Amino acid sequence: MKRLNVLGAEIHCITLEEAILNAKEYFEGDNCRMVATPNSEIIMNAMKDPEFMDILNSADMVIPDGIGLVYASKILKQPLKERVTGIDFVEGIFEYLNKEGKSVFLFGSKPGIAEIAVENLSQKYPNIKFTGTYHGYYKDTEEEKIVELINEATADLLCVALGSPKQERFINKYRGRLKVKVAIGVGGSLDVWAGTLKRAPVFFQQTGLEWLYRLIQEPSRYKRMRILPLFMFKVLLKRKKAK
Ligand code: UDP
Repeated sequence: MKRLNVLGAEIHCITLEEAILNAKEYFEGDNCRMVATPNSEIIMNAMKDPEFMDILNSADMVIPDGIGLVYASKILKQPLKERVTGIDFVEGIFEYLNKEGKSVFLFGSKPGIAEIAVENLSQKYPNIKFTGTYHGYYKDTEEEKIVELINEATADLLCVALGSPKQERFINKYRGRLKVKVAIGVGGSLDVWAGTLKRAPVFFQQTGLEWLYRLIQEPSRYKRMRILPLFMFKVLLKRKKAK
């Protein structure tokens, strides 16, 4: 799989279908494989934090979860094939896990959310075994206990919804010990599966405006989104330097 460098982040140049196909192999392996789903905001944060950038780049698969990355890759004349959102990717994996009767652990989000997500997902994917949940508002001292809980649950897939960079840091810290086949940071996906957060309608998704819909739903995100024009500016600067 080809990786393209976008401001230091080594992003895989893949389609949604290729990403799912690739991940299926991970479920046959023995180690915990990490999938990261950076968007422009996450890359901007990683640029200020080299250790976090290393964590992102050390993931087995780094999928381009943001329309900003697709535009940036075009500007840098090394176009990504398409935007692959983390939630579409995980739902594709759920289809596969459902066929195979495999298991999932949902970790993160506010107390109670993962349980509602399990109820809803179980209706859609009746053959998946949801072997455990834990909320994401824990004390640092609880981490060991959480890792043990995850391992006792012996799930194939671990979804970590702690927001970035917390979720990637958690997976990276424990990936050597986690007895799961794949661990992925899923951001706000548990809230979507629980029905407390609405995903943008298809029109917004297809026109690359999902971020705008999210901003309308959660206006408090504007502070985080202010860095996005700066991301584009840095990309343009990089292209100018490369000329
Ligand atoms: N979250 C959590 N623990 C924390 C911080 C956040 O479980 O200490 C959860 C939060 O409740 C939400 C999820 O992380 O369900 C994703 O947050 P956010 O929307 O910031 O992530 P994004 O989708 O933008 O990566």
